[in-house]
Amino acid sequence: MTSNRPALPPEIARRRTFAIISHPDAGKTTLTEKFLLFGGAIQMAGQVRAKGEARRTRSDFMKMEQDRGISVSASAMSFEYNDFRFNLVDTPGHSDFSEDTYRTLTAVDAAIMVIDGAKGVESQTRKLFEVCRLRDLPILTFCNKMDRESRDTFEIIDEIQENLAIDVAPASWPIGVGRDFIGAYDLLNDRLEIMDRADRNKVAETVKISGIDDPKLADHIPAEQLRKLREEIEMARELLPKFDRKSFLEGHMTPIWFGSAINSFGVRELMDGIGNYGPEPQPQNSADREIAPEEKAVTGFVFKVQANMDPKHRDRVAFVRLASGHFERGMKLLHVRSKKPMAISNPVLFLAADRELADEAWAGDIIGIPNHGQLRIGDALTEGEALKFTGIPSFAPELLQSVRATDPMKAKHLEKALMQFAEEGAAKVFKPAIGSGFIVGVVGALQFEVLASRIELEYGIPVRFEASQFTSARWLSGPKEKVEAFANLNKQHMATDHDGDLVYLTRLQWDIDRVTRDQPELKLTATKEMM
Ligand code: GDP
Repeated sequence: MTSNRPALPPEIARRRTFAIISHPDAGKTTLTEKFLLFGGAIQMAGQVRAKGEARRTRSDFMKMEQDRGISVSASAMSFEYNDFRFNLVDTPGHSDFSEDTYRTLTAVDAAIMVIDGAKGVESQTRKLFEVCRLRDLPILTFCNKMDRESRDTFEIIDEIQENLAIDVAPASWPIGVGRDFIGAYDLLNDRLEIMDRADRNKVAETVKISGIDDPKLADHIPAEQLRKLREEIEMARELLPKFDRKSFLEGHMTPIWFGSAINSFGVRELMDGIGNYGPEPQPQNSADREIAPEEKAVTGFVFKVQANMDPKHRDRVAFVRLASGHFERGMKLLHVRSKKPMAISNPVLFLAADRELADEAWAGDIIGIPNHGQLRIGDALTEGEALKFTGIPSFAPELLQSVRATDPMKAKHLEKALMQFAEEGAAKVFKPAIGSGFIVGVVGALQFEVLASRIELEYGIPVRFEASQFTSARWLSGPKEKVEAFANLNKQHMATDHDGDLVYLTRLQWDIDRVTRDQPELKLTATKEMM
């Protein structure tokens, strides 16, 4: 990925934009907190949640999410670490929000996969991993909770290799497990890292040694554990691949660190890993050409829209990944879809707890642009070029329900609210060609509940979701006259999405197969490129 490319300007080269993927409960939130702590973005982490509700952990973003107990937004957090600028994009953990997660992963250059040392590769981890693989994203693995009883180290590594079909290179090797866990041997730097159990926010003590045979090791590790460690490392060096940066950057190999997020153990080594091995901001694809980060002109794309972040202001923030250039506040950028210039006067950077006005940003950064609905997922901003970024998919919903305002007088308002959620990407909204009302499509059932509560909370419209006569939706495309003829003949199945694109609704997979078979010039697709 990074090889064969010219050296980037230092400000871009020092940026690391990544996401953390994991199965719920593996420790993503805890790890995020420790990142922010070591990045100097917060002063205290971890136990604040347990100590008192008054002091909330800052990566638990919104009140609404806390009430629901799930993270529904994909916020970004920027902070400095050593010589690096880290942009950590948060992915929602709940499987019902996977579409959001897919899009988030289009905005990052790498991912950290967190697994629980006792549980190994779990279902959600595997799904997210597959998405990363589609994009050949480099992945760093953090095997968490080593302070608890966990699986044998070789077994964990084997499971990742077999389950995910990726080479695993140990970057560190754990010493002891559970109550006997004392630390790890840093295989990349020949160092001993000793965990401090007394202070969970303290960084491990580092002992410089000359190698695994260094007699100094005996001062820190009990004899029996040391014997086992030497034996395991010898075996690991023989049997497991050695870390290879190129292979990692190409997405074929993942380095794995063993640690305990809650004890701050192994976190710094992982952060150093992202910093030192990269990747740097990568080129982005557009319909006509590849956009290189070092290009002078500023370009960026919207990968996420969050409406009503502050219900008092009814604002919307579009999250933009800068693909190239050096952005400065006040710049006028072309909003490619509407062909209109947009003065970006109050862009925000997301720090751990607050938003801050962004005076400048570079390729790789994520900025938030408050707006009134002009910016949609997939939109491009440029200094004049009519770019079309590619790769952000929109998935056909798997569940459909019809929705109605309990107060019929509010039907018009409901339409507006639904369109906003559709633009935000929170749901698909279809307006049937015949009759009134709307059909809402989502990927996971929980989204209906979340939507109903948001519509009521944010727009003051109580709504009812009801079973729909349809179960599948497919976008319809093909030669214009064929499409029109088909739509006319099948009016009771036709609808339009919020972009005005035609959608075929049905109950039966059989219908879809029949159309595909009988009318090969028509296309029914389950995804639509949003950009
Ligand atoms: P998330 O759902 O992936 O965000 O996971 P959390 O960070 O909320 O962690 C889930 C639970 O595991 C919480 O109770 C954490 O306190 C706990 N936890 C996180 N890291 C560790 C660790 O290193 N060791 C132990 N024993 N528990 C941990």
